Amino acid sequence: MNFRIGVIPGDGIGPEITAEAVKVLDAVASKYGHTFDYDEILLGGASIDVHGIPLTDEAVETARSCDAVLMGSIGGDAATSPWYKLEPSRRPEAGLLKIRKELGLFANLRPAYLYNELKDACPIKESVIGPDGFDMIIVRELTGGLYFGDRETKEVDGVMTAVDTLSYNEKEIRRIAVRAFDIAMKRRRKVTSVDKANVLDSSRLWRKVVEEVAGDYPEVTLEHMLVDNCAMQLVHNPAQFDVIVTENMFGDILSDEASMVTGSIGMLSSASLNETKFGLYEPSHGSAPDIAGKGIANPIATILSAAMMLRYSLDLDTEADAVEAAVAGFLAEGNRTVDIAVEGEEWLGTSAAGDVIASMVAGA
Ligand code: NAD
Repeated sequence: MNFRIGVIPGDGIGPEITAEAVKVLDAVASKYGHTFDYDEILLGGASIDVHGIPLTDEAVETARSCDAVLMGSIGGDAATSPWYKLEPSRRPEAGLLKIRKELGLFANLRPAYLYNELKDACPIKESVIGPDGFDMIIVRELTGGLYFGDRETKEVDGVMTAVDTLSYNEKEIRRIAVRAFDIAMKRRRKVTSVDKANVLDSSRLWRKVVEEVAGDYPEVTLEHMLVDNCAMQLVHNPAQFDVIVTENMFGDILSDEASMVTGSIGMLSSASLNETKFGLYEPSHGSAPDIAGKGIANPIATILSAAMMLRYSLDLDTEADAVEAAVAGFLAEGNRTVDIAVEGEEWLGTSAAGDVIASMVAGA
């Protein structure tokens, strides 16, 4: 099959890690008989350097015309980069917010997976996690809730008072719930819906709509969990989770907590999806300006983001499985990058790591 993939190398280590993900996608294309055409898109500091702004309308249109977009990461060192002397609306991060908004990306997916070989990096004792590690995905609503509601700061009776509004309508809840159940159908068929329904009206509506959606997915088990309990359960028994679906702010906090539980930021992928099959796929980490240009960044989070793209936007599940198996094989054979190597252990640079994973895909 033929697909057009937008590629945003971005800033810092972004170009180095996206090059490795493209290398792996090329291995997928030749092994499975697909054609991937790549369109390079400038975003962030790379766009500021050329166009003076972090994202042009033309770049948005190019992204929109692709089947999916793969991104490295954007941004620089705020203390030293000239990009941060610009007004906030012209800085690298403004480009990322704009592309998410323009493309209607309302569902943010953040997997948290513990590789057997990296158990030592996990801050939780093995006796707590259990022998099989954990494998969950957090589906966070990205365009509603507390971060997008009306807000106001004013003086009331001589006291400064600030108000933020947490608002959701049924349509917004239904579309994120449908996404979560669809994803659960591709996994272990369990959804944990996280809310604060003992206090918040928005959570009570959330629960009602999620239950309605669950009626269309009889094979998926649904459970509800209060957000404070979920925060505890993530470190008490992370293996219980398959798909967690939750509103914007709860998801922001819980997905960071879940990623720290794995202990390996260079390994974590993410995706942001809209109402169609389209998605923007990027590692969970930033542009790591401290190691940019040294050829030592771990490309695995970006390679796993490309695997998510194969699965969720291109419907190539077998190919996605092959990439994930290649990453598991890379680790199982004892290969490491600098961030996941223990002291004294040998490690591979960015390009060499990409070579090994691509050749494992080719040989799969
Ligand atoms: P960061 O994730 O870039 O780096 C944190 C630490 O992790 C650094 O020591 C870095 O060297 C290391 N690290 C990160 N990714 C790595 C990898 N693949 N391999 C090896 N080591 C890795 O976070 P930060 O330093 O807070 O942010 C740097 C820049 O990235 C900032 O400009 C920030 O705004 C931006 N950022 C961008 C995104 C994005 O593009 N979506 C997300 C987060 C941060």
